[in-house]
Amino acid sequence: MERYLSFKMYTKKELQNCKLCDLYKTRLNALVGEGNRNADIMLIAQAPGELEDKANKMFIGPSGKMLDKLLQNAQISRDEIYITNLIKCNLPQNRRPKQREIKACSKHLDMEIVEINPKILVPLGYYATKYLFEKYCLSEFTKKEFPKLLGNIFTVENRKIYPLSHPASLLYHNEFIDNSIENFSKLKKWRKIK
Ligand code: SF4
Repeated sequence: MERYLSFKMYTKKELQNCKLCDLYKTRLNALVGEGNRNADIMLIAQAPGELEDKANKMFIGPSGKMLDKLLQNAQISRDEIYITNLIKCNLPQNRRPKQREIKACSKHLDMEIVEINPKILVPLGYYATKYLFEKYCLSEFTKKEFPKLLGNIFTVENRKIYPLSHPASLLYHNEFIDNSIENFSKLKKWRKIK
């Protein structure tokens, strides 16, 4: 059962004023989700990087170029999907998110999932996948086990969860790029399956 069924999604102003966790003290911007509100695919990244925080825009710079390359290969445009973050504010020095930050900020993500109602949730990286697996009561996994989940599809309630590598991680691990291109290209196939 989804939480916050009766709530409307946050507004840009509400998110900019959010102080539900201490990250508001160091952020420049709290980033709202971007893209198509009728999307059947929702990508969920971890958190905005420094560039994104400054520009108040998702996936710019090298990780944005990598995402565009993956989407282009999959013949999917950014305009037809919805992209958001598990944590809406920058994590200083790109540190790992803390459990209390995930707990606080996932309230916003939960609202987005209800409002956008995508058919396929695509968590990018470990933390977004871990959050969705907990939310939908899927099996637990360790960080070491996480790579085994990449490119597998999980059906929960009325939607699918399809964990993929975070584009930023591919900048440091280009040995996984070919596999990620292949996994992203399968999105077209998954969106056709009921
Ligand atoms: S990270 Fe999320 S919960 Fe924390 S202040 Fe930013 S918007 Fe609010």
